[in-house]
Amino acid sequence: MTAPLLDVAGLVKHFAVRGGAVRAVDGVSFTLARGETLALVGESGCGKSTVGRCILRLLRPTAGQIMLAGRRIDDLPERRLRPLRRHMQVVFQDPFSSLNPRQRVRDAIGEPLRNFALASGAELSARVAELLDQVGLPPSAMARLPHEFSGGQRQRIGIARALAPGPDLLVCDEAVSALDVSVKAQIVNLLLGLQERLGLGLLFISHDLAIVEHLTHRVAVMYLGRIVELADRRALFAAPRHPYTQALLSAVPVPDPGAARTRIVLRGDVPSPLAPPAGCRFHTRCPAAFARCRSEEPVPRQIGPGHIVACHLEG
Ligand code: SF4
Repeated sequence: MTAPLLDVAGLVKHFAVRGGAVRAVDGVSFTLARGETLALVGESGCGKSTVGRCILRLLRPTAGQIMLAGRRIDDLPERRLRPLRRHMQVVFQDPFSSLNPRQRVRDAIGEPLRNFALASGAELSARVAELLDQVGLPPSAMARLPHEFSGGQRQRIGIARALAPGPDLLVCDEAVSALDVSVKAQIVNLLLGLQERLGLGLLFISHDLAIVEHLTHRVAVMYLGRIVELADRRALFAAPRHPYTQALLSAVPVPDPGAARTRIVLRGDVPSPLAPPAGCRFHTRCPAAFARCRSEEPVPRQIGPGHIVACHLEG
């Protein structure tokens, strides 16, 4: 059996602070196949972006194991990691901050091609034009600066730059969150098309369940540093099993007003990751909590094909 493109096992990332540690990620495991999209969703502060940054090795994990195409990368020194970086690329939320304002588009997209010694000169220009075409921009964009483009166009440039070194894994960290609704849909469609055409593994990190419903094969829902439910998109949207997923989904608008979901409003705020609640971390806000939830942490259980839930209501 071939190894999955990405295999994350028991990933932990703690940040030391005065008087303790922020337990941003506290034992996260999942796999991602080539050509598959996995959405990592949850409220702000749940640890989803930290998972992405550990996978990209922008952060060094505290514990756990990350395998990329069968090769362990979590403990590699930067020198040995560098040639592997072209296989995993990222698109961030704000293309303005990831694009150098004084760098023309040809150089911005061409930079990774030069850095990984993949092209130079006329070949580099031709490859940049090809990448611009893939993201729906004309070759004339090459000579322009980032501020001359709209937010959606800048995100297209960010995607072209990420695709330049020919990655196998693309991490999109809130990549469409800052965009207007109509532009958001265009960028989601672009990512979908590229993912299918190029056979990319796509890890789509988002707080917005409505967006991932149209984009992903599977969904992993995070709460306070842990995955609480992981399932095929259809199974998760049709019949979410974890009370937190049910609450998140109840807030997603549905096109048919007659089929509107009953909104579940969670009480209180997300507790601090400095001192997560004992037992089930969700028990302080869970409408279904009972005595056992306050003392015993639920173990993730498989309740159907590829459907994993961490909740005492499931056994
Ligand atoms: Fe709610 Fe208890 Fe399930 Fe946690 S284990 S989600 S508190 S019912």
